[in-house]
Amino acid sequence: MSNYAQHEHHDFLGASAQALADPTLQQALVRLTDTLLAGNRKGYAALADSSELRDHAKRIKEHTLAHLDQYLVQLEASVQRLGGKVHWAATADEARKIVVEIAQKANCKHAVKSKSMTSEEIHLNPALEAAGVEVTETDFGEFIIQVAGERPSHLVAPAVHHTRESVARVLSKHLGQQLADDPKSLAMTGRRVLREKFRQADLGITGANFAIAETGTVVLVTNEGNGRLTTTCPRVHVAIMGIEKVIPRFTDLPVFLKLLARGATGQTLSVYTTIITGPRQAGEYDGAEEFHLVLLDNGRSKVLATPFRESLQCIRCGACLNACPVYRRIGGHAYGGVYSGPIGSILTPLYDSVEENPHLPHASSLCGACQSACPVKINIPHMLIGLRELQHEREPNRWERWAYGLWSAVLQRPWAYRWALWAARVFLKRRATNGWIAQMPGPGAEWTKIRDFPAPAAQSFRDRWKELE
Ligand code: SF4
Repeated sequence: MSNYAQHEHHDFLGASAQALADPTLQQALVRLTDTLLAGNRKGYAALADSSELRDHAKRIKEHTLAHLDQYLVQLEASVQRLGGKVHWAATADEARKIVVEIAQKANCKHAVKSKSMTSEEIHLNPALEAAGVEVTETDFGEFIIQVAGERPSHLVAPAVHHTRESVARVLSKHLGQQLADDPKSLAMTGRRVLREKFRQADLGITGANFAIAETGTVVLVTNEGNGRLTTTCPRVHVAIMGIEKVIPRFTDLPVFLKLLARGATGQTLSVYTTIITGPRQAGEYDGAEEFHLVLLDNGRSKVLATPFRESLQCIRCGACLNACPVYRRIGGHAYGGVYSGPIGSILTPLYDSVEENPHLPHASSLCGACQSACPVKINIPHMLIGLRELQHEREPNRWERWAYGLWSAVLQRPWAYRWALWAARVFLKRRATNGWIAQMPGPGAEWTKIRDFPAPAAQSFRDRWKELE
């Protein structure tokens, strides 16, 4: 097991310090996020009016969430009309049981999986393996981290923390043969191993980027084609999706397809868009004989009734991760949950618990880069502040309350303000050398642990103002 799997999910500070001290990870993060962020900007710029299109996508999501009950029932009816089965899972536990039961009933022994954050969320693989089903991740990045015993560290690039050398090491150990660290030959090895797994598989598991209520269609967007093989080779296909992934009409789909790839990587369209409408019908040449759709709630309907509803508009493109100055330094594992970066800092506390993830709402400079990059313009900073408020309401910090009370009292009294400024200047000047303070006392020590604090200017603003007047 690698370093990245060792931290408990709430040890945000420990895992962040570990990530910051890892030069290889730092290099990999800068390389990936720079490339993807540049792609995101180029992708939006290539559209005639990207802002209007993003607003349009947002309106579709807002409308769908406002009528989510109706659209989910419509989706269920559409899937059933085609001969598919729909399963409702209120919790992760229920979802795991449903999938295990489907596998057992159909006597499946070998499952292939296309990348699915929802299946990561419900920890599906260990449950299937405990039931005697071998599971193979077929997205190459996911395959690498499965073999390494790790968790994904990015929504669209799960093995971003690996280098080609570490990939060669991991795969060599797994396959029992020495592989060269050449990307092309590693990819060909992956292809050979995975093709054999597709050939053996009797169960295909996928997520769903979108599900269309009107037609019962599930849409998968991939760059490797593994989604297509996962849904066409095995005789049983199970798609697991969060209930927020439904969209009303087929005509809404192009709006999101135009934005998803551009937001994620800057591509005009992802390489494969797989559109599945029910199980194989008479006269069709491929497709699964059985099709199951698992609709997962797992805390989502609870979020729907709160001021954090907007977080359910997320289409999991990963753009906010690439833009975030915090994610760009600490990577995905530091966040602990399945979802990392700015959107993970909202989803993990909401789906899991605010109390268990106290650092996440603060893992942001609130600069707004995430919202600018987001294809549906989710106001992430606003929700992070909302979570901080919630924390404060549930567990008020006595020291913070005292400090703000004092600050407010000082601001209301000009004489006290003048005196406080004078005292602070005298105090700080005494500690300064060459214009910088190397060590601050009290809470300020956290700042000077990693950087110096500037000494006060020779003349205060108020004095200078008086002079100018
Ligand atoms: S919040 Fe927006 S940018 Fe971040 S993953 Fe979701 S859709 Fe993409």
